[in-house]
Amino acid sequence: MSLNILTKKSATALLIAIGLSAQTAQAALTFNFTYKSPGQGFDDPTFGADRKAALNSAADLLGEYFVNYTATLDYDVTSSNVNESRLASAGSSYSLIPGTFQGTTVQTKILTNGAIDSNFFAADGFIDWNFYDNWGLSDNVASDQFDFKRVAIHELLHSFGFSSLVNQNGSGLGDKNPGTADTWATFDQFLTNADGVRLINNAGVFDGSVNALTGGSVLFNGQNAKDANGGVAVNLYAPTIFSPGSSISHLDDDTLALSELIMASSVSAGQKSRELSDIEIGILRDIGYTQIVAPAQVPVPASTWLMLSGLLGLVGYGRRKATV
Ligand SMILES: [Zn+2]
Repeated sequence: MSLNILTKKSATALLIAIGLSAQTAQAALTFNFTYKSPGQGFDDPTFGADRKAALNSAADLLGEYFVNYTATLDYDVTSSNVNESRLASAGSSYSLIPGTFQGTTVQTKILTNGAIDSNFFAADGFIDWNFYDNWGLSDNVASDQFDFKRVAIHELLHSFGFSSLVNQNGSGLGDKNPGTADTWATFDQFLTNADGVRLINNAGVFDGSVNALTGGSVLFNGQNAKDANGGVAVNLYAPTIFSPGSSISHLDDDTLALSELIMASSVSAGQKSRELSDIEIGILRDIGYTQIVAPAQVPVPASTWLMLSGLLGLVGYGRRKATV
């Protein structure tokens, strides 16, 4: 299992975001969430029902992009309540086969329309949610709340395979010595350094320099992603201090055009978009989801525009790290 963490950052702007809640497209993916933290979090006697409803709503929003696939996805969902930077984490299991690039169990299940369930009766994916933070569950997220649905979509996408298995020392899932074939994520097949040289070759051997992993210069060079990014590879999150579970598995927060996208490594408080960008859709196509579609957007009533358009502004509290 690989866990990925999204990081929270201080609010920089109250984003004018348009919820997608009015959409009723029939999702072809079915999400089954099994809650594993009795009496707390999603099973909290007071707040649990609304939290579960928000998670299901977020899953439905994401499912609208995957209407051309049919699969039932089983997730074990736990909760925590810890004062730390991590907002939530999620992942899915892989098959350990050195010399290969593997989809997650969830990814394989979707791409085979449910035909292949790599781990049989076990859960396909895992989510842990930190309820220490103040969460906005609805489509009207306050400036001091984190956007639950946005983060849920982010976490689910990690389980879908938007995730790297590259460790700081250049090993993969099997912790093999660098220079030896290891097990990698499908996502890792597209990693290059700033010169466009692949970090992991077709034999599954990391043959790049590990310096790239902490040099802010790891790129995703899939063709669909590049097409959506003006023809150039997309910057991934590669901070100077390697962050296990976060480095390489996210878009680069330090690239202005990427910093507010769903798959950036951190998020600020306030209402956010829940729409995938063309770049994110491109990456998903590159890792195998060739049938993904962008759902039609529902126009926002003029009155809503007026209500939202006055909110843009800067909120200057300090950057607070947390992981999604
Ligand atoms: Zn994340």
